[in-house]
Amino acid sequence: MRRHLAALRVNALLVTFLPHVRYLTGFSGSNACCIITQSAAGLITDGRYKTQAREEVHGYRIFIATKSLFQELKTRKLIGRSARVGYNPAALRVTELENLKVLYPSARFVKVRNFIDDLAAVKDETEIGQIRKAVAISDAVFRSVLSVIKPGVSELDVAAEIVYQHRRRGAEADAFEPIVASGVRGALPHARATSKRIARGELVTLDFGCRYEGYHSDVTRTVAVGNPASKLRRIYAAVHKAQQNAVEAARPGMKGSDLDAVARKSIAASGFARFFPHSLGHGLGLQVHESPRLSALSTDVLQEGHVVTIEPGIYVPGVGGVRIEDDVVIRKTGTEVLTTASKDLIIL
Ligand code: ZN
Ligand code: ZN
Repeated sequence: MRRHLAALRVNALLVTFLPHVRYLTGFSGSNACCIITQSAAGLITDGRYKTQAREEVHGYRIFIATKSLFQELKTRKLIGRSARVGYNPAALRVTELENLKVLYPSARFVKVRNFIDDLAAVKDETEIGQIRKAVAISDAVFRSVLSVIKPGVSELDVAAEIVYQHRRRGAEADAFEPIVASGVRGALPHARATSKRIARGELVTLDFGCRYEGYHSDVTRTVAVGNPASKLRRIYAAVHKAQQNAVEAARPGMKGSDLDAVARKSIAASGFARFFPHSLGHGLGLQVHESPRLSALSTDVLQEGHVVTIEPGIYVPGVGGVRIEDDVVIRKTGTEVLTTASKDLIIL
């Protein structure tokens, strides 16, 4: 971090984005910032987190703010009066920046490139182990939820079961509200579960994930309830093939846009080019969506230790949709797929 500070020509870096605070310090509470200078590193939080901060944070001095976090920064003289202070503009409100400028009238606050995203994107084996555990919980949830999916059951019933089973199996939280999209609603890539009842012959797309020790899983499977029509089977086969092709192609040194193109070409070859409207995937870690991005526009380059989702989909309005999503680790020579749930079409 200090090497980065020197390269960015700032005396201090103020980190206000909580997933980055957690990445750098280990602190998991809901109100904190940290400050790093060439000679000091401090975490500032409030009185609710006094005990928790001492347990979680090592290598940083801990300060408990009596008024606001930024006021504490000033009271403790953690930044020199005329310092150049770097901040991430995506993680600081305009009012917060104005507040800082009032507290530090002679300091310069400068926007810096969000390099912590790049650092956090490369996981060590401990972090990969936490993601592996989150994925294992979600895999087990998928297997158990299959018994609930039948004609007459509502999407909300299935979503409730996913949430319940995640907690029962040790997840701290949902990664996001589960997506359960059945029948023609499957053509909505981000459909929330509704009271719609599942009918025979429909496909049901389940996109769900959980958090374990701060790290996330994010898995999608599409299953059939009774025998699906041949068009739906063709869509399924096209997504399955594109997903598998992308998993097999991914390796260090590849650009996010090139991996996206592998899946997109595969889907185009199956005749569904117009029906894949979103990007191929995203990094996964302390955030559900983080670096690197796998999209047609992404210049991110895959590195060993990245953990990404690979999730192509086909959505045909009025017909239905299919998405298949695995969580994979980029290894030296290819990928390690963390998700173990079957990708063959399951007919319930
Ligand atoms: Zn997902
Ligand atoms: Zn995803």
